[in-house]
Amino acid sequence: MTNHTPPRDLRPAALQVNPHVSALPTYNAGMSLDKARAISGHEELARLASNENPDGCSPAVRAALASAAFDPSRYADPACTALREALAARLGVEPGVIVAGNGSEEMIAAISRGVLTPEAQVVTVVPSFGLHEIEPLAAGASVLKVPMTGEAGFDLAALEAAIAAGPRVVFLSSPWNPVGPALDQNALDRLIAAVRPGTLFVLDEAYFEFADAGLPDGIEVLRNSGINWIVLRTFSKAYGLAGLRVGYAVCSDTEIARVVGAAKTPFNVNCAAQIAATAALADEAWMKASVAGTRAERLRVEAAFAEMGLRAASSQTNFLFFDCGRDSSEMATSLLMAGIIVKPWREPGYTSWLRATIGKPAENDRLIAALRALTVAA
Ligand SMILES: *Cc1c(COP(=O)(O)O)cnc(C)c1O
Repeated sequence: MTNHTPPRDLRPAALQVNPHVSALPTYNAGMSLDKARAISGHEELARLASNENPDGCSPAVRAALASAAFDPSRYADPACTALREALAARLGVEPGVIVAGNGSEEMIAAISRGVLTPEAQVVTVVPSFGLHEIEPLAAGASVLKVPMTGEAGFDLAALEAAIAAGPRVVFLSSPWNPVGPALDQNALDRLIAAVRPGTLFVLDEAYFEFADAGLPDGIEVLRNSGINWIVLRTFSKAYGLAGLRVGYAVCSDTEIARVVGAAKTPFNVNCAAQIAATAALADEAWMKASVAGTRAERLRVEAAFAEMGLRAASSQTNFLFFDCGRDSSEMATSLLMAGIIVKPWREPGYTSWLRATIGKPAENDRLIAALRALTVAA
């Protein structure tokens, strides 16, 4: 950094900042790849910390980005019209209820900015997806986090009670990041029945494509519910576009979509992302084949974990969340030295849990072997 620090007496000491934002916990995005390489001495690392797609993305995405449709010199369509129309046709909803975002995380921010006011109440779960807490806090809301059960599942009775108290917004991911299980039809029905008219029920389905066929489709269930709702989905996981940043919100009505749209930045989804997501959506076969491979690998890793006595939560996702029986940061450091990056959980009460993404078969083998060595050594 160059030395632009002003002399002490010239600092604008009277500057006030937004106290809600200045007090925010930092989002735990993990270590940079360069730093992980330097610390571990491994050039080739198994990157199992961020639930990315080990298969990359559809070749149709690269073809679309190589076409004349990709013009970096022009502003992209701020309404994401082509992508939203393709999504609307696929999902059987009107384009007017869909808002596209710079990742679904931007939609979490836009919902918080558009719907929450200081002092509003938000309900989510713990262990939590960081942004379901951070974005409401940034808006000055207070966040109640309902803990998972002893069996690493949703505590339905506690969630029902918290939702029935009438918070402004409920943020739930199902399948649940970081834990892994999904709400079944009965559980979703119970929670929806507890929602009051003044509450917006946000169901974050970032891992929807990985879930068993018998599990409910949130859009299908919620569209007949009569409550205020938003379902979030993303191209970052099953479609393998994490680096391009595209996600979207499907809203119960156009008025909620209008408020979320007003809270986003105007040119939020860049032209590469719009073209890529539209191409990825059209190549459903690639996504399904990739997801099938990941699900098969998940079963294999689950079996290996069970065999070595590691307690993992049930998973409907592309990751496993497990109790490693010691401090998760220490375990993550040991795994890093073995060439594997995972995500140690740091929320109080869950600091012995780790989340590991299902990677390529060879990466999963490396994870299993390293855990076996570290668990036996303990
Ligand atoms: C990965 C993830 C997202 C973020 O997705 P982006 O579209 O990449 O912003 C949102 N919610 C949950 C629960 C996730 O795990």
